[in-house]
Amino acid sequence: MPKAILMREIIQSYLDDLIPLRRDLHKHPELGFEEARTSDSIAERLESFGLAVERGLGKTGLVGVLKNGSSERSIALRADMDALPIQEENDFEYRSENDGKMHACGHDGHVVMLLGAARYLAETRNFSGTAYFIFQPAEEGGAGAKAMIEDGLFKKFPAKAVFGMHNRSGLEEGKLATRIGIIMAATDNFEIIVKGRGTHAAMPHTGIDPVITASQVVTALQTVVSRTVKPIDNSVISVTCFHTGTAYNVIPDNAVLKGCIRTQTPEVREQVRTGIDRVLSGICAAHGAEYEFTFLPGYPVTVNTEEETQTAITAAVQVVGEENVDQDTQPLMASEDFSYYLEKVPGSYIFIGNGTAEGGPVSHRSDYDFNDHIIPLGIEYWVRLVENQLR
Ligand SMILES: [Zn+2]
Ligand SMILES: [Zn+2]
Repeated sequence: MPKAILMREIIQSYLDDLIPLRRDLHKHPELGFEEARTSDSIAERLESFGLAVERGLGKTGLVGVLKNGSSERSIALRADMDALPIQEENDFEYRSENDGKMHACGHDGHVVMLLGAARYLAETRNFSGTAYFIFQPAEEGGAGAKAMIEDGLFKKFPAKAVFGMHNRSGLEEGKLATRIGIIMAATDNFEIIVKGRGTHAAMPHTGIDPVITASQVVTALQTVVSRTVKPIDNSVISVTCFHTGTAYNVIPDNAVLKGCIRTQTPEVREQVRTGIDRVLSGICAAHGAEYEFTFLPGYPVTVNTEEETQTAITAAVQVVGEENVDQDTQPLMASEDFSYYLEKVPGSYIFIGNGTAEGGPVSHRSDYDFNDHIIPLGIEYWVRLVENQLR
């Protein structure tokens, strides 16, 4: 029997186990760093496939290790496992039993696809080297990836490359999409306090007006994007809060500004951060005001490395054919904590189509559900990656 057909038959035979497992996870969603039940069931499966399992990285995170042959080569594959604080509105039998929590981003599906790959590779052992299976907590804002790295992920498991996969609503079932370079944006927040000196509104010369100063800061910040960042580079600065004052006749002491920054390269991210500080310090100096600028870093830019993305594309083409692999998909302005892994180890992140049903399901919505039809495709993608990389 040709190898591809045999591989697909074996993977198909897992679905009787994996689909109920996916739905069980869906029924019992857990938020970031609370994935105790989820990680228990993952550990149990990995051990039953014969993998060594290390738990407790990033609190609830775990890594399965599968070594075969004598090669020094290694690869890490990552699935996230946390749910979102959303009240599920689906009414199927396996809807969430945990009030206010829901697998609305498909991480339940990510878990079973990676488990399926671990099982296949453990049973067939058609590779030489070490495969690490990373199950991480808290992708949805908690930076679980960073927590695992800080707990020694890549020191204990020195992978030469790392790969991630996320389902994508709006991308057809049976399609995969990636690109070399930036694939997801960085999201950062900031807080500014413009410090003036309050006084009587009829005697402004006796104080320093933070309202006037902060107003000029708000408008001038737009010039950071429009005048200092190259027009071809995407970036956004939005001031979304402006709080000051309490009375008609009092010039307040301070004004507080808050907002967010989206950028798509580390260079532009830094340029915007220093640009804000420069504009702020200049305008405050002009008015005799002082300021505090707090940059609140969110997830960094997700940047796929060239060689590993070629590897990913090769595997993707083996799974769904060249016509179904978008090799230069448009980057998203959303962000991903997979970016932290890519700051340490070369690698690549790919989207797998979750289907485009009319009117939904869109991730992060209360009527979303992961599409079980794509489980075998996801498993095969992981398997191909490992077998190609650790040939
Ligand atoms: Zn999400
Ligand atoms: Zn997600």
